[in-house]
Amino acid sequence: MIRPAAGLAALICALSWPASALAAASTAHAIQVRIEPDTQQLEGRDQISFDAPRAVTLLLSARFRIDSLAVDARSIEFQARLVDGLQHISLPPARRIDVRWSGKLAPLDPSLDHRDTLTYDEPASGSEGTFLPSGSGWYPEVEGALARYSVALDLPADQRGLVPGRLVEEHLAQGRYRARFDFPHPAEGIALMAGPYRIDERLMRTATGSKVRLRTYFHPEIADLASGYLDSVEGYIDLFAREIGPYPFSEFSVVSSPTPTGFGMPTLTYLGIAVLRLPFIRATSLGHEVLHDWWGNGVYPDYARGNWSEGLTTFMADYAFRERESPQAALAMRLAWLSDYAAMPRGEDMPLDHFTARTHGATQIIGYNKSAMLFFMLRDEIGKAAFDQALRDFWQHYRFRIASWSDLRHAFERASGKDLSTFFAQWLRRTGAPDLRIADAKAKPVGGGWQLSVTLAQGAPPYVLSVPLAVRTSGGEIMRRVALTRDRGTAVLELPSEPLAVILDPQLRLWRRLAASEAPPILRDAMLAERPALIIPSADAAVQAAAHELASRMLEGADTASAKASTLLVVGLHADIDAWLARENMAPRPAMLAPGSGSAQVWTVRAKSGRVVVLVSARDAASLAALSRPLPHYGRESWLVFDGARMQKRGTWPVQPQVWRIR
Ligand SMILES: [Zn+2]
Repeated sequence: MIRPAAGLAALICALSWPASALAAASTAHAIQVRIEPDTQQLEGRDQISFDAPRAVTLLLSARFRIDSLAVDARSIEFQARLVDGLQHISLPPARRIDVRWSGKLAPLDPSLDHRDTLTYDEPASGSEGTFLPSGSGWYPEVEGALARYSVALDLPADQRGLVPGRLVEEHLAQGRYRARFDFPHPAEGIALMAGPYRIDERLMRTATGSKVRLRTYFHPEIADLASGYLDSVEGYIDLFAREIGPYPFSEFSVVSSPTPTGFGMPTLTYLGIAVLRLPFIRATSLGHEVLHDWWGNGVYPDYARGNWSEGLTTFMADYAFRERESPQAALAMRLAWLSDYAAMPRGEDMPLDHFTARTHGATQIIGYNKSAMLFFMLRDEIGKAAFDQALRDFWQHYRFRIASWSDLRHAFERASGKDLSTFFAQWLRRTGAPDLRIADAKAKPVGGGWQLSVTLAQGAPPYVLSVPLAVRTSGGEIMRRVALTRDRGTAVLELPSEPLAVILDPQLRLWRRLAASEAPPILRDAMLAERPALIIPSADAAVQAAAHELASRMLEGADTASAKASTLLVVGLHADIDAWLARENMAPRPAMLAPGSGSAQVWTVRAKSGRVVVLVSARDAASLAALSRPLPHYGRESWLVFDGARMQKRGTWPVQPQVWRIR
């Protein structure tokens, strides 16, 4: 999953399989479709078959004319009802329906942004690209049914196209490109993509001996990226096949889109050209999309009872990549999850099992991040060997079937021999998170060692927790876990040397609400503050003007009376800022943000009073003015260096865990 970065639209996984209909899937489409992107003309024919006679309703976009319709080989008269741009055609019971249709597609509009593309469900075509989303009525869908399919494409010779599934044949003849795809599993719908693609291909042999056809369908301007993407896809399929079990499909393709979109589907991912050019996509979201061919497209979540696939995919792709990078990178990701959760308005919180698909930011925080943290805590709880075994068993058992959260729980219980009902119930069904804190800690010498009593509190009703504590002793740091099952509890630890301090969950191994003092201050703390104040320790008129402009873009209703302010924005030239810090008895400018680095530096400080102070230090008034546009986009950062309007470096301060000093 691509996180929304500066100026980049978010990628969304368009995975949805209505579970209720899966069991009854016995419908098959055999589609032939001819598309002329230059004129947007589409002509199609479909033979829909059922294993037993069924009365069905067909859905076809109102932009098409139905040229013929036969039920069990007999032409019939029919009436179409028009609902939301779709023709609804109800038919008598039949084993076979033959339909021919034709019409004009919408022109492809490359100026759409990602949000538009997500809500834009018109089938669209142009010489730069064709995207016929499932659900857009580009072919006669059978209402409420999942269906197997084969699709034969017919395109001009300079175009290539595909649908999810296995490539059965393709050839170029008489000025046309033709290709046929089979998808032998129940699918909710069919999406079709075409464009002036250059295809690069590689056949990989997996560890189990099966062959997988890897392809890129790239616009010519990014064709040089193909081999790098093929390398990455091959690496991911190999990795996940070893971790989970054989790759369930015979292909994987990376397909470029002229619009800034991002979709995942079985056997392929469809990403905007600009997105594919971003250097980090191959290392992050591509792996996430490949993994969905196991979790989501290989085992289907029971959507009515909650979608586990985004959390498990985030944990085994995005998060696992960070873990492989370094423990610090993994900790930084857990910190980002907990910081986002701490900043989320409480009213938007919800139980994880209410998450079905991503619609807005809060559902990402719960459905992706909290869910990934659940798997992280579960691995801590049962150990890596049992965790990995459970996932392999789960995969083997539920391949191409629906599975719920409780099916997952059973797999983990079988592999670990533990009852996990409390664990899953508290993290799935409850809204909120524990408010953990150290309430007291006392030490005394006992025999040759020391005894430490630590009292922890967590709020009510309590969670059942195994709380990691780091104990700083005269003989070094010792890690322990203590059980906490009530709203308050005392644990007694035997230690070999004198304890000096206790640190609560310093590695952020628990899903919990970070205390205000734990979360590193970030710009957004100031931007969301209720009573911000602006301080300009400079009399220069140009600096004053630039500072007011910056404040108006970052803060709402800032005034210059700072006594009661919850947040301070202090803006000035280098010498003014350094002098102000000294006058206020605050820590001097961090060495890494020396005036010589870039034309302006921005950093956050949490003052002793608890309020967040944001310092903006610039070389001159022009450097200050250059910040007002870019700076508000960096709410997640603790510090930044700018050269003019260009961000050069950024980062967040490390977590500041709760420390109880004993001596
Ligand atoms: Zn996803």
